[in-house]
Amino acid sequence: MSLADDLYRETILDHYHHPRNQGALEDATVKTEGVNPLCGDEVTLYLKVDSDAISDIKLEAHGCSINMASGSMMSEAVLGQSLEQAMSVAGVFKNMMLGGSQETALPEELEDLEALQGVRKYPVRIKCALLPWNTLLEAIETSRAKGEDHQE
Ligand code: ZN
Repeated sequence: MSLADDLYRETILDHYHHPRNQGALEDATVKTEGVNPLCGDEVTLYLKVDSDAISDIKLEAHGCSINMASGSMMSEAVLGQSLEQAMSVAGVFKNMMLGGSQETALPEELEDLEALQGVRKYPVRIKCALLPWNTLLEAIETSRAKGEDHQE
């Protein structure tokens, strides 16, 4: 195992043992749920959206370490971002996970996410890593659809 693998594993375990932004959000403006039946992973995501930005985010994640760690990293990466920025971060992450074996360098503020690149060696686990992000994208879509309703 290389040094990079060790560092990656440490980052993943740190987020797994100390997940950020865990729990329910009382004043969430949107709530979505995602499941990955292959592994038994579950994510309930709470977003508080204020003028098209994520002003708060919490998630209740259950399942494997990859799902938990990915959800924790995701919450840190998108907290305080505009919906547009959050979608673009999700796009960068999904490209990295689905982009084959090539190493992807991410911007500094997304460095932790690089730790999940090792997961690409295990195709079954890629779904575990993507679940929180797909749940986020669904929440953003739901939030936007609601916003359009209000304008009518
Ligand atoms: Zn899993």
